Amino acid sequence: MSEPSARKLIIAIDGPAGAGKSTIASRLARKLGYANLESGAMYRALALKAIENDISFDDEPTLSDLAHKSRIKIEPTLGGNRVLLDGRDVTLRVREADVSQAASRVSIHPQVREWMVARQRELGTNGGVVMEGRDIGTKVFPDAEVKVFLDADPVIREQRRIQQQHSHGASSEAMAAELRERDRRDRTRANSPLAPAHDATIIDSTSLSEDEVLLTIEALVDKKLRANTSPERNVS
Ligand code: C5P
Repeated sequence: MSEPSARKLIIAIDGPAGAGKSTIASRLARKLGYANLESGAMYRALALKAIENDISFDDEPTLSDLAHKSRIKIEPTLGGNRVLLDGRDVTLRVREADVSQAASRVSIHPQVREWMVARQRELGTNGGVVMEGRDIGTKVFPDAEVKVFLDADPVIREQRRIQQQHSHGASSEAMAAELRERDRRDRTRANSPLAPAHDATIIDSTSLSEDEVLLTIEALVDKKLRANTSPERNVS
């Protein structure tokens, strides 16, 4: 039997905005010594570039071309992921409301998604990654060893987002409306809509603490590490 701690898994955490994915993914990755990849930050970086270059969010060929010409890097740091766009640190800028909305608009295009999915697969190919987003378990890594769909009551998600983002100066109503609109777009788009993978574990975090969510996912990881003795993805 292979040494359980030596195996490096792919852990997919999907779910809507405000469900707590980023915090949980980064805590889990730190605990396991895995890389933490926020796939949403990549869509945000491309959206920012579209804003800066005055490109319509509906212009799929130009957006796809822009993606191909972009260098988007997600660097884990102790304080969270750093987002680099063509070498420029855009970590704070990509969190702003205009970029959030733009990200959910550029992400509806199949050609844009194709480019993103290919980059994300490259980043996770060796395992040892906690990747969070909307389509990680359904599209990017359908064979991920651990798949979680993290959800929460919409009102709670709005409250959490409002608490997180108060420093950005937007009103609570505007933030709640922004989140609802983005949710609607993410769930109803034709290409890779937000939905749980058929084999994902659905965790409703409405009345759970962060620690409780983390413990639940750690138990899934532990079970997988113990049960799966196949050496194929043993990269260490
Ligand atoms: O996760 P985050 O809120 O940063 O994502 C921003 C937007 O990027 C989402 O609203 C969604 O439209 C898009 N996205 C996506 N697929 C992913 C991650 C994010 O379509 N895997």
